[in-house]
Amino acid sequence: MKILLASSEVHPFSKTGGLADMVAALGKTLARAGHEVRIVTPLYRGIGAKFPKIKRVDWQFNLPLGAKWEQGGLWSLKPEAGLEVLFVEHPAFFDRAGIYLENNLSYADNAERFIFFSKCVVNLARYSPWRPDVVHVHDWQVGLVPALMLQQHRAEGWENPPLSCLTIHNLAYQGIFPPAAFALTNLPGGYFTLTGAEYFGQLNCLKAGIIYAEVITTVSPRYAREITTEAMGCGLDDQLRLRRKSLFGILNGVDYEEWNTTENPFLATAYSATRLAGKRANKAALQKETSLPVKARVPVFATISRLAEQKGVDIQLGALQEMLSANIQFVLLGSGSPVFESGYRELMRRFPQKVAVRFGYDEGLSHRIEAGADFFVMPSQFEPCGLNQMYSLRYGTIPIVRATGGLDDSVIDFTQEAMQANGIKFQEYSVRALAKAMRKALVIYNEPALLRTFRQNAMKKDFSWERTVAEYLIAYKSTGKVG
Ligand code: ADP
Repeated sequence: MKILLASSEVHPFSKTGGLADMVAALGKTLARAGHEVRIVTPLYRGIGAKFPKIKRVDWQFNLPLGAKWEQGGLWSLKPEAGLEVLFVEHPAFFDRAGIYLENNLSYADNAERFIFFSKCVVNLARYSPWRPDVVHVHDWQVGLVPALMLQQHRAEGWENPPLSCLTIHNLAYQGIFPPAAFALTNLPGGYFTLTGAEYFGQLNCLKAGIIYAEVITTVSPRYAREITTEAMGCGLDDQLRLRRKSLFGILNGVDYEEWNTTENPFLATAYSATRLAGKRANKAALQKETSLPVKARVPVFATISRLAEQKGVDIQLGALQEMLSANIQFVLLGSGSPVFESGYRELMRRFPQKVAVRFGYDEGLSHRIEAGADFFVMPSQFEPCGLNQMYSLRYGTIPIVRATGGLDDSVIDFTQEAMQANGIKFQEYSVRALAKAMRKALVIYNEPALLRTFRQNAMKKDFSWERTVAEYLIAYKSTGKVG
């Protein structure tokens, strides 16, 4: 099959969260399974310099964007056989310090930027001699692609358009813009209705994707069920219920080539389920790196996260205030809301011997934290899939998670399957419930045989991408349009 993936971020070229990891791994694994894959993404600042093998392609975009016409170029990189990454060049839109925002403020022209990008995706799908069978778009930034494809099919002579598939990585981000932004799509008004891209008078790019994509997927089975409920449907549950038959919940995989403890350039000492001693060395190295007292017997709890409300920062700060009276350490790597950052800074000020926080984005440190910590805390309000709990499992770092979305699907609690338990789950979104889960962690920590069993169960859990890709192929084929 020929598959065109479209995403506003792709690891290692650009990343703000799990979307980038997922699209990169999906593309790579589809290609290794024998499919021809192209991933299209914007050419952000710095990509050309960091990846000198990138080459200009003989391709020019000249596309209407409302009343104006916008031009763009195309660049290409072939990381491995069967896989090509295409970069849409438009310096005024994409050569900027941030991807979506700067100084915590979204760019004012995000509608222009990503509607233009969406039109480039459609242009490539239709006119490049390489005709994809599937156009698989990810999140609101390319949510309008299926509608644009449909319109070209219905009214502009595109005879056999590819299958359109939308993956929702997070329903909370919908790409909602003032109604005037609809004009940028150059679609007829019939698409801007209650049963189209209109949402309470505004343009909703993700809603457009949900309505017009032929297949919809999201990143875990439980989240697929949750988003069809009013409580967790973010205002789009009606539309999602209408599309239930075309909605698939597919748990993301983990790229074990990057996320492993045996051959990892970021780690000082390799270790595995049968050679756990190396984990102790990583713990000491982490304590040293974060200027915490190097103490082997003190349990280290850690979090790596965007500091957003979704991630449960408020209950985490509350539970830590309570738990830091115990003999524990806590390491945070995160970036996001300044209010939350100051909450963690305050904790570090009060408990300088126990708390270390690092703000900013640091890939190497994220691996070293996963390797050095004993427990990984993810108390999310909701979590479509979540990757860090799966990385933690492979690193033998016991995840403490709230039982929601992909966290519930990927972690096994003692009460579910005692022999297979690899993490700690709690249900209620409260300080009390999280603190109780952390106290359970201390009980496990103080029983070395139990801790070893948890770690070994965790490390042998396999979320390989091959299984995930097989499920995507089933979703594509469910329409009968591709074989
Ligand atoms: P989300 O996509 O909602 O942010 P996920 O758990 O799915 O959450 O994915 C988060 C990804 O981003 C993981 O790969 C995680 O390691 C990474 N990440 C988050 N914050 C940071 C940070 N400050 N530094 C390095 N990596 C980070």
